[in-house]
Amino acid sequence: MKIKMEGNIKLINDDGLRLDGRAFNEMRPIKIQTGVIEKADGSAFIEWGANKIIVAVYVREAYPKHTQNMDRAIVKARYNMAGFSVEERKRPGPDRRTMEISKVVSEALSSAIILEKLPRVEIDVFIEVLEADAGTRIASLTASSVAVADAGVPMRDLVVGCTAGKADGRVVLDLSKDEDNYGQADIPMAILPRTGKVVLLQIDGDVSEEEFDQATSMMMNAMKDISKIQRDALMSKYSIEDGE
Ligand code: ADP
Repeated sequence: MKIKMEGNIKLINDDGLRLDGRAFNEMRPIKIQTGVIEKADGSAFIEWGANKIIVAVYVREAYPKHTQNMDRAIVKARYNMAGFSVEERKRPGPDRRTMEISKVVSEALSSAIILEKLPRVEIDVFIEVLEADAGTRIASLTASSVAVADAGVPMRDLVVGCTAGKADGRVVLDLSKDEDNYGQADIPMAILPRTGKVVLLQIDGDVSEEEFDQATSMMMNAMKDISKIQRDALMSKYSIEDGE
């Protein structure tokens, strides 16, 4: 549940611009790179505004044997924030929030992976947040999807995510840290773009039906651009390898 922070911060100025100068429907810049961890089967590094997250994927036979699923793969994402990723040192180890994020990311990835093609296999997705600045679950999921594809795992589609929310009573795209802290709602969402299937949707705070529709339509638009960044990241790796 969204807890209103103390104090009164004006998040949108008289010209309709946000504290970081963005328009209400403007994303922070996103960059994705694949193949960043040599030893891993697949990997990706994402910079989403000031968020910096690295993901490594390992595909192996599940062990111990009794954890194997005979007719499909299992996906285990583990989200972790580095101690230096936030201003106040994050206490090490899993807490409720990190367990929740690991679970929703695992579930969203499972919807995209053709699990029955990999019986008895475990797909481990290690997510390390190096710098956190709001929207890390969605940035993690977006990067994880690229890292899983980079590992050569058969997928129906790449999961793409985005957030929207409410700041100063207005619907805005891709919440900044201040908007996350002092705003009235936070809505992370992820889809499989080919079919439009929603694989993650969380709502923290209060939104009307109309605001929710506005938020989802802004996110749908933004996700088209983010999908392209994901595909370009995968393509650029393979075009470099082809050129060698
Ligand atoms: P998300 O990162 O997906 O937006 P939250 O809404 O739970 O997830 O967190 C918002 C932001 O709050 C994070 O991106 C991070 O910048 C900050 N944050 C989260 N957990 C902590 C923590 N334990 N200590 C300090 N800052 C944190």
